[in-house]
Amino acid sequence: MAIRTILTLDKPVLRTKAKKVSRFDAYLQRLVDDMWETMRAAPGVGLAAPQVGESIRVLVAEYEDQAVALVNPEIIKRSDDEVLGTEGCLSIPGFVGDDVPRARAVTVKARDPRGKEIRVKAEDWFARVLQHEIDHLDGVLFIDRIPKENVRRVEEDELIEEGEVEKVTTGKNGKQEKQPERNERPAASASPSLPGKGPGGRSSSSPPPSSRPSSPLTSASSASSASSAVHSSSTESATAATRGGGR
Ligand code: ZN
Repeated sequence: MAIRTILTLDKPVLRTKAKKVSRFDAYLQRLVDDMWETMRAAPGVGLAAPQVGESIRVLVAEYEDQAVALVNPEIIKRSDDEVLGTEGCLSIPGFVGDDVPRARAVTVKARDPRGKEIRVKAEDWFARVLQHEIDHLDGVLFIDRIPKENVRRVEEDELIEEGEVEKVTTGKNGKQEKQPERNERPAASASPSLPGKGPGGRSSSSPPPSSRPSSPLTSASSASSASSAVHSSSTESATAATRGGGR
């Protein structure tokens, strides 16, 4: 097993519709093993193959006693009720999005890494994780599902501690499952008084974002053109980037 480099927003492979897997071979098995290791090391609760530069329909996700590696996943049933929650993404470090709408429950049909057909029923937080990861396979990111004002900066360590999905608030009854330690860090991460209109709502009190994507929103707005333009070359360049290590 090996930890792979998690690609960030500016990589075309993240905006490309991933291909279906047709061979359930040792290569796939190794990829899945690497994805588990990469996800847990991040740490995160879910990871999709395009995030490590493989443009194929594979994801891993883990929550409490549920841990699944899904190949060619398809949502075959989704609940009518939609819930809003805050999401982060290992490919968009330093930012989260509020009020990302998701179906509260989904049933996913997929194959396991050996090719056996499986079904996964997920609710609430785990359902959100699966929808987030399946979106990745279509080149869709959470920032595409919310208005720009809902994207905000967080401290990087806060995001990483919390994993891929930082917090979930169920929209229906307003119950909050988890509160990040936002209240304890008023200066850095709270400030809901961020500009809002500016990309990422960068506040003057934040440290300079030297090595971060300057704005997920800029990339998002050009995403549709990018994803169609890169179809031919994305796989190779992404693979090269992965092998190159270190971002
Ligand atoms: Zn993600």
